[in-house]
Amino acid sequence: MVAFGRWIDAHGHLADVRWDGQQDTIIEEARTKGIHFFMQGGVGPEDWDRQKELHKKYPQHIGLCFGLHPYWIVDHDEDQCEQALDMLARRLPEAMGLGEMGLDFRPHIMKDSQDRQITMFEQQLELAHISSKPMVLHLVQAHEQSLTIMDLFGIPQQKGMVHSFNASWGKAQDFLKRGLFLSVGGPVCRPENQKLHQAVKEIPLEFLLIESDSPDQAPPAYKGRLNPPESIWEVAKTIGELKSLDPLEILDITTGNFHRLFGSTNEILVPAKGV
Ligand SMILES: [Zn+2]
Repeated sequence: MVAFGRWIDAHGHLADVRWDGQQDTIIEEARTKGIHFFMQGGVGPEDWDRQKELHKKYPQHIGLCFGLHPYWIVDHDEDQCEQALDMLARRLPEAMGLGEMGLDFRPHIMKDSQDRQITMFEQQLELAHISSKPMVLHLVQAHEQSLTIMDLFGIPQQKGMVHSFNASWGKAQDFLKRGLFLSVGGPVCRPENQKLHQAVKEIPLEFLLIESDSPDQAPPAYKGRLNPPESIWEVAKTIGELKSLDPLEILDITTGNFHRLFGSTNEILVPAKGV
């Protein structure tokens, strides 16, 4: 049993500029609702710096995660990507996780970036192998391609999580077979999302995480506003209904899972020296 106030939001972006000036409020509100630790998803070098600022202010509550997000890769050329990758390799020891890394092949997002996305995904997989950091994967409309690449490079020993998992039980099994955790967020709260509901019913509890992806992916109860991290209560309630468990149990179990994947949140409270 995890004590009230020790639960974890496995993925969000509290350093996102859209939260500027409101971080203190949203962190405080989430903490009054028992959420103690907020794992970040990395986007690119500017975002890593913003995460570090926030971490300086809340060392016990913010988990650093550095990676090159497909969105960032779309907006940067090959040379810039290579430079950022070097920087990532140097700065990764400061972080708790490696990511977001992955593929996003939605045509309106991808534009001309498919090859760069693939190269950067492969290179970050290599980095995952030589680092001790679990991966935080962003995989959208690229299921088969991502499996092919992960099988070619191998899943690193310390594994990782698929953030914002929002697909069928069949696809969930492809990730579970490879030892990856599945992190579920706001989309599960949409009543019409039967495919994900079915998957969540089947996903073994010990491989489940919950996340806000704040400030995006708001559950219906938070529609029309920036999604605050406290919204993982809505996610826990829906998953609880699907699995016939109390939301408190879902929060307890997913917090335990997070520790299994990333280790103790206490160990990472002392930031390594910045580069
Ligand atoms: Zn994210």
